[in-house]
Amino acid sequence: MAHALYPGSFDPVTYGHIDVIQRASALFDSLTVAVLNNGAKSPLFSVDERVNMLNSVCKDIPNVKIDSFSGLTADYVTKNGIDVIIRGLRAVTDFEYELQMAQTNRKLAPKADTVFLTTSLEYAYLSSTTVKEVAYFGGDISKFVPKNIEELIFKKYKKINE
Ligand code: ADP
Repeated sequence: MAHALYPGSFDPVTYGHIDVIQRASALFDSLTVAVLNNGAKSPLFSVDERVNMLNSVCKDIPNVKIDSFSGLTADYVTKNGIDVIIRGLRAVTDFEYELQMAQTNRKLAPKADTVFLTTSLEYAYLSSTTVKEVAYFGGDISKFVPKNIEELIFKKYKKINE
C-alpha cells in the first residue's frame, strides 16, 4: 500500500491543484492533501477554511483525505508513514526550489521519495496568487476555481473591504 502526501498552501485551491490531486489519487492507494500552516506567509484564508475548501472539492474522490499540519513536511511524513511526497511542476521557475525541497526532505525523511507531476497544459499558468490578484480587482476567475470556491473568494474580499 503506497500512501502519498500532497502538501501545499492551497490559498485557495485551484483547478491546477485539483488536476494534480485527481492524477495522484489514481497513482497511489491513498492520498492525503495537507494544508501547511506556514507562519512565514500571510494567507487570505485560515487553515480551517482551506481544509473545508479542499474537503468540498475532493468529496467525490474516495481515497483522498484532507489534513493540516505545522512544522516540517519531513516530520509529518515520518510520523504518518508516508511513502511519497507529491509536488506539482508548472514551469522551470518552479524547478529549482522544488528540487532543493525534495533533496532536503530526502535527507530528513529518507524513506520517502518526492514525485513530481507536471501540470496539465491548460493549467500551467495558474497559481493561487494569480487567482487572488484577479479576484481582488473583480475579474472573472470562473476558469481558475470551482464555483463554490469562487464565491468564497469574493465573499472574503467583500468582508475585507467592508
Ligand atoms: P506552496 O505554497 O507550497 O507552493 P501551493 O498551494 O502554491 O503551495 O502549491 C502546492 C503544490 O501544487 C506545489 O507543488 C505547486 O507547484 C503545485 N501547483 C500549484 N499550482 C499548480 C498548477 N496550476 N498546476 C500544477 N501544480 C500546481
